[in-house]
Amino acid sequence: MSDDATTSGEPALPAGFTVETCIVVACRTCQRAYGDEEEGVTVHFSGLDDAARTITAAGWWVTQQGTQCYDCAASEACATLGHAWPDWALCRCEGRIPAHVQQMEFRTCAGCGEQEERRAHTTTGGA
Ligand SMILES: [Zn+2]
Ligand SMILES: [Zn+2]
Ligand SMILES: [Zn+2]
Repeated sequence: MSDDATTSGEPALPAGFTVETCIVVACRTCQRAYGDEEEGVTVHFSGLDDAARTITAAGWWVTQQGTQCYDCAASEACATLGHAWPDWALCRCEGRIPAHVQQMEFRTCAGCGEQEERRAHTTTGGA
């Protein structure tokens, strides 16, 4: 007696319990489930429309290829179109970041939030 038929179905529920189908959404790229971030729990939707509307409002992308969380959608857009870098801005840590032994400047991509830093081109050294 090796294999029963028990693997094929769910156990019968006592009267009063009903299995309902719901929809959970996960990013097709990073597999992160929608809702993980803020609530720490996966959000269950009652229907596709409901799910699509909610995650789109939260910044997720819903395309023919599937769903993408905001981060992955932004990263993919940046990979395709290039980062949306603003001008360099001087770091104001004033030495609080130990690695910044000299004045650094940084910029943050407006799309994906990636950061770059470099040494500031200050030759005078005055404040
Ligand atoms: Zn993702
Ligand atoms: Zn970017
Ligand atoms: Zn700094």
